[in-house]
Amino acid sequence: MYLKSIELSGFKSFAKKSELNFTSKVSAIVGPNGSGKSNIAEAFRFVLGEQSIKSLRGKKGEDLIWNGAGDLPRANRAGVKVVFDNSTKFLPIDYETVTIERVVHRDSVNEYLINGSAVRLRDVVELLASAHIGASGHHIISQGEADRILNANIKERKSMIEDALGLKLFQYKKQESQRKLEKTHENIAQVESLRREIAPHIRFLKKQVEKVEKTIQMKDELTGLAQEYLKREDEYINKIKSRVEKEKRPLLEKEKELDKELSSAKSVLERAKHKDAKSEELITLEKNLHKIRDEKDNLFRDFGRLDGELSSLSKMVKKQEEVAQSIEHKTVTLVSVEELSKKVEEKIKNARSLKDTNLLLQILDEVEKILSDFIDHNKDKVDMSLLLDSKKEIENLKNTKRQIEKSLEEIKERENKLSLQHNTLKDDIDKEKDSNRDAEKAVFRIMAESGEVRSQLHSLSLEEENLRTIEEDFKRELTELGHMIGTHALQFASLTFDFNEERSLQEERRRKIEKIKIRLEDAGGIGGADVLKEYTEASERDIFLEKELADLAKSAESLTELITDLDNRLSTEFKVGVEKINTQFKEYFSTMFGGGEAKLSVVTPPKRKKKEIDELMGTEEDLSAEEAEDTEEGIDIEVNLPKKKVKGLMMLSGGERALTSIALLFAISQVNPPPFIILDETDAALDEANSKKYADMLENLSKYSQLIVITHNRETMSRAGILYGVTMGSGGGSKLLSVSFEDAVVVAK
Ligand code: ATP
Repeated sequence: MYLKSIELSGFKSFAKKSELNFTSKVSAIVGPNGSGKSNIAEAFRFVLGEQSIKSLRGKKGEDLIWNGAGDLPRANRAGVKVVFDNSTKFLPIDYETVTIERVVHRDSVNEYLINGSAVRLRDVVELLASAHIGASGHHIISQGEADRILNANIKERKSMIEDALGLKLFQYKKQESQRKLEKTHENIAQVESLRREIAPHIRFLKKQVEKVEKTIQMKDELTGLAQEYLKREDEYINKIKSRVEKEKRPLLEKEKELDKELSSAKSVLERAKHKDAKSEELITLEKNLHKIRDEKDNLFRDFGRLDGELSSLSKMVKKQEEVAQSIEHKTVTLVSVEELSKKVEEKIKNARSLKDTNLLLQILDEVEKILSDFIDHNKDKVDMSLLLDSKKEIENLKNTKRQIEKSLEEIKERENKLSLQHNTLKDDIDKEKDSNRDAEKAVFRIMAESGEVRSQLHSLSLEEENLRTIEEDFKRELTELGHMIGTHALQFASLTFDFNEERSLQEERRRKIEKIKIRLEDAGGIGGADVLKEYTEASERDIFLEKELADLAKSAESLTELITDLDNRLSTEFKVGVEKINTQFKEYFSTMFGGGEAKLSVVTPPKRKKKEIDELMGTEEDLSAEEAEDTEEGIDIEVNLPKKKVKGLMMLSGGERALTSIALLFAISQVNPPPFIILDETDAALDEANSKKYADMLENLSKYSQLIVITHNRETMSRAGILYGVTMGSGGGSKLLSVSFEDAVVVAK
């Protein structure tokens, strides 16, 4: 016996905690109408996880909670607890006793507990499914639902039988697997579409990568070539630069020196411009000198004349003094002679112009007279005053001579001075003339030399200019190469080569570099790292997707296999189960009806037939669903009543339907016995004779399953080992009491 007890608290009419212990194989619950018996059957459904409140005769969760009546206030929660003996481990859980509890609150929140631990509904459903018990299961036959299996369509019927045969679990598994398979196919489609989507990108990237790889190769080649080229170029530039500088330095110094020399020569020449002034000064000096010399000569002449005069005068004085001593040495003064001569000359002059001889004779007479007068006048005369005058004259002359001598001294001095000045100036001018000549010579030499220096400097500066162009090219190339191959381009400093090569080889190298650069640019430039990264990522992703696809395909395959297995198992077990049910059904049916035949048959409805059935059942399904279900099997029930010609369920009376249902339910239950069965007034429609048969069958069934029967039937009650009476208490709530059979008969009424 699996079912130990059920406890209701606040559930529907059970305001107070009420417990029913099921210590017997058959337990009966009896009581008057409306006392709350069916609420107990519903409590079972509730605690086993029923989700349809409607099937519990409510609209919402709150309807399941004691609503208050009389002096019992309404409850806030409804709880039902069912206890199983799990010593046989019919529930796959490692407990001897398993308690399943469900509580619903007024806000419709549900709680589920297994052995006191809060769990999900799903945990409860899964636990019970493995023991063939479930909320809406076949093992709880609610009031008036006995012939539900007869009323159902073939598909529903099949589902009920599958459930009863314990195939639901496989069905769940199948559904689950199908769902998973569907999901897997969706995932496959998704992954495939993803792969399809990224495939062109990967192809594109692959091409890019190939290009990048080629680019890398070219870059490597370029790097090697560039480093050598740059190193050589750098070396070349430095070499030329230092040579030019070395050559230039002395030339610049020379140039400076020449400039200096030139400027000093020029200043000499500049000074020569002032020579005219000096020459003029020299001319003036010479003029003055001439003048002084003329003066001096005059003075000399005067001096000589004076000296002569002085000596002749002194001689004359001496003579006069002697004459004074003797007559013969009497002298006449020149002046008197000159006066005489003058007088005579005048008479002669007059005579010349006269033609008259008388007059001439007269003039001769006059001249004779003049001469005789003169002689007479001077014959006795001795003139002492003249001597004195002469001596005075000598004295004057001597004074004059002394003055002249003094002037001569002075003039000589001046002449000397002037002469010295003149000589110095002349020397100066001569000297200047010499240095001018030198300066001119120097200017010519400097011009020639600096021409030479300049031409050398010019050719050096041409070389420098050329070098600058080379250097600029070098810098530009360095930048360009830097852009293309990064810092590798700059790492040439430590390289060494044999630098004594033809310059043309370097030119060749440069051409090669240019070619590679163009090829690199044509290849779409650099930035390969990104492409490589992207390609790696994309192909990794593709590989991942491929693997995932393989995994998905594998799991789809294993799911398909599992579904096929489940299908096979379901089909086999269903067929075997139906066979077994049929054996029992036939037996129960003939027991019930005292003969006749009943049988379940697996049918596949033809399209039209199915459509008719659906129309009959009022089910509307769309075409695709209909088509999909075409091959779905169903269960048909064939009945053949004894001694009656009527066949088919439709022809049965109410009682006959009830009997057929019970026969089928019992047959099903016997083939795959659930741990317990609850039968809520399944016997309601039976007459006394059939009640007896029903009770016999109950007893038989109780060998396989624990039975809880809600009944008003005396015969049924008589087969119960334990009886519970349910009454409606004065406070309005259901009351539970253990009763004896006799009491039960009374209570039931
Ligand atoms: P019958 O023999 O006629 O089938 P029964 O004994 O099976 O009757 P139930 O249908 O189980 O009776 O009980 C119905 C009673 O339970 C009604 O009187 C109803 O008022 C009461 N009931 C149902 N839900 C609640 C609730 N939430 N609170 C209080 N009482 C409730």
